[in-house]
Amino acid sequence: MDKIAIKNDQDYEISILRERISELEGLTERLRQSEERYRYFFETSPVGIYRTTPEGRILLCNQRLLDMLGYDSFEGIKDRDLEGDGSEPYYPRARFKQLLKIKGEAEILEAAWIKKDGSIIYVRENARAVKDKNGEIIYYEGRVEDITERKNLEQAKEDFISTAAHELRTPLTSLQGYLALLDKEHHGLADKEQAYINKLVKAAHRLHEIVEDLLSVIRLDHRPNVDLVAFQLEPVMEEAANEWRLKAKEERKSIILETQGDYVIQGEPEYTKKIISNLIGNAVKYTENGGTIRITNSRSADDNQPMVLVTVEDNGVGIAKEHHQDIFTKFFRAPNPLSVKAGGTGLGLYIVRQLVEIQRGRIWVNSEVGRGSKFTFTMPLRE
Ligand code: ADP
Repeated sequence: MDKIAIKNDQDYEISILRERISELEGLTERLRQSEERYRYFFETSPVGIYRTTPEGRILLCNQRLLDMLGYDSFEGIKDRDLEGDGSEPYYPRARFKQLLKIKGEAEILEAAWIKKDGSIIYVRENARAVKDKNGEIIYYEGRVEDITERKNLEQAKEDFISTAAHELRTPLTSLQGYLALLDKEHHGLADKEQAYINKLVKAAHRLHEIVEDLLSVIRLDHRPNVDLVAFQLEPVMEEAANEWRLKAKEERKSIILETQGDYVIQGEPEYTKKIISNLIGNAVKYTENGGTIRITNSRSADDNQPMVLVTVEDNGVGIAKEHHQDIFTKFFRAPNPLSVKAGGTGLGLYIVRQLVEIQRGRIWVNSEVGRGSKFTFTMPLRE
């Protein structure tokens, strides 16, 4: 009787064991299939995929990345040092690493990588930092898309705009010179003729502004290296405001300067003047006659990073919330009751943002349609 019971128990255990083994076999098969699928996508992906140490040594990459960088096999690439020789100074790797450290990921960053033969490819990169359980970064993982063709086209377009703008400069200067002479020296012109001259002077001035804006955009897109120096902010604010006083008076608009102190800041004085002047120009342009433009400065409350805040506020037509980010991009113009009459290229605020960022500051806007706009930018304070 006992023997049969033992036999039955053994049978039972064996059958359970068989069941577990077949479950495990099923799991292993599923794992194998999933690995095969992953390998297939990894090997045939149209984008480059990599894993590197935080120091930039390539641990793993797919065929597409090898092709992109001109290598035949992984053997050739495995000693590459992306950090030391991987990118151009224009696309600093330090920024990439900082993003991965702070945010854990870097989305759609543009970079320039050097190929095996020394030539450059431009890439769009998405990457994330993989950390161990103590939060230490073990490796970076990323996807890379080759955008060299698009970059080369952009470069050709930039070269064309730059040449055209430079070529326009000389005849335009002469046109403006002769118009100024005509305006000054020819007295006794009929009202109609004088009105024509005034219109020509205005049009030539507008053309001059467009040409200069185009040249500034191209120059600033390449983030020039600028020496940042210590200087007093208040006189620069005054100079910028004075540039607009005559026009404001003609249009019965008041420009009020309310400084809280003469701060010494770190930056580039001409850039700072251009930023403030541009913001005041817009405030004048997008405010109905009789409006008020107020310019202030103050120290920011954040003691860790002493900054000065400069604001330019108007009570004009305002900007709809959905456009607050867009207005700082190239060629964007938000529709408003004054935009057609005022004219413009949509380049002003893009240039302003570049100038602010070169001086290590930030810019943003608070605005409501019909109530006015307040632009604020920051600059590092020199204590
Ligand atoms: P532009 O004035 O040549 O169009 P900007 O780049 O200077 O180009 O400004 C972009 C857009 O932002 C403007 O077209 C306008 O719609 C909006 N904007 C800028 N400043 C103001 C302001 N102070 N008040 C209202 N709208 C503004």
